[in-house]
Amino acid sequence: MMRVGQVTRGAIAVIAIGAIAGGILVASPIAAQQGAGPQSKCQPGPNALGVSRTIEIDATGGPRFGRVQYRDHDFLQDGEVVLTFDDGPHPSFTPMILDALDEHCTKATFFVLGQRALSFPQQLRDVGRRGHTIGTHTWSHANLGRNSAAQIESQIELGVSAAQLALGGPTAPFFRFPYLSDPGSAQAYLKSRDIVNISIDVDSHDFRTKSPSRMISNVLRGLEEKRKGIILFHDIQPSTAHGIRQMLAELKARGFRVVHLRPKQSQSTIAAYDQRIERDRGAPRVAAVRPSSAPTARPEPQHVAAPPTAQAQPRGGANWLENVFGRW
Ligand SMILES: [Zn+2]
Repeated sequence: MMRVGQVTRGAIAVIAIGAIAGGILVASPIAAQQGAGPQSKCQPGPNALGVSRTIEIDATGGPRFGRVQYRDHDFLQDGEVVLTFDDGPHPSFTPMILDALDEHCTKATFFVLGQRALSFPQQLRDVGRRGHTIGTHTWSHANLGRNSAAQIESQIELGVSAAQLALGGPTAPFFRFPYLSDPGSAQAYLKSRDIVNISIDVDSHDFRTKSPSRMISNVLRGLEEKRKGIILFHDIQPSTAHGIRQMLAELKARGFRVVHLRPKQSQSTIAAYDQRIERDRGAPRVAAVRPSSAPTARPEPQHVAAPPTAQAQPRGGANWLENVFGRW
């Protein structure tokens, strides 16, 4: 069952949407809720995007969103967008993006890597402190479509445990596949753990360019066609870090409205993975990251620390190196 609650500024209206057998959607009221604390403090000016509504997602059964891959649900109305940022945190770009979002009194969802969360915990905590939603994106940006079942579990759970340790609190049970690479076995695992699988509708292709204006035009072109959608950015990409302020202004000027995703439940962790992360804590690490979908350029190799401990690792010799440095 997927349940969403809708919170608008001022008057609160909350609805639930439940998926019943046969895939038919029904709506019914659930408990009302007030806007989140950090959001309510922000007073958007006339040129700020703000947040038009907040949707609360029930993770039970691991629903899927994002119509590039999944047609299960379509909760966005015409003109509505969800802002998402993958692959961070980044020591300087993430704060730049957070400042731009604050200027617009708007909220986003960040899909973070476990490795990078441990490397840049202050930036991660700042994401949470400013009221954004934090989901995960594996431990080291592995392509789960080419991983074994044990590696898939390890990548997902190490990502969750590392993010929560770095954040010092719970993350949302929201997950995005690196490269949007979703093998059926991983999907089954997410469902078994009640983790929401959030794909995309519109791709900024920010990893393909250093040009903010190119990144912005990619998004606007995608929205021209669809008029709504979950937008993919990367908070490690310079085109997004330098272009997000103008991007948000362009969305406002075109009348788009931002929907903020919030979880109904917190993400649970598995003690064995928490312990592996804690044992390894303190070792320097910086994740090498490739972009999420169909990259064409080989990224610069960076120093990468091994994943924690030797048991059931996503390492696996050549496969591990391939995950880190790419196959191109
Ligand atoms: Zn990614």
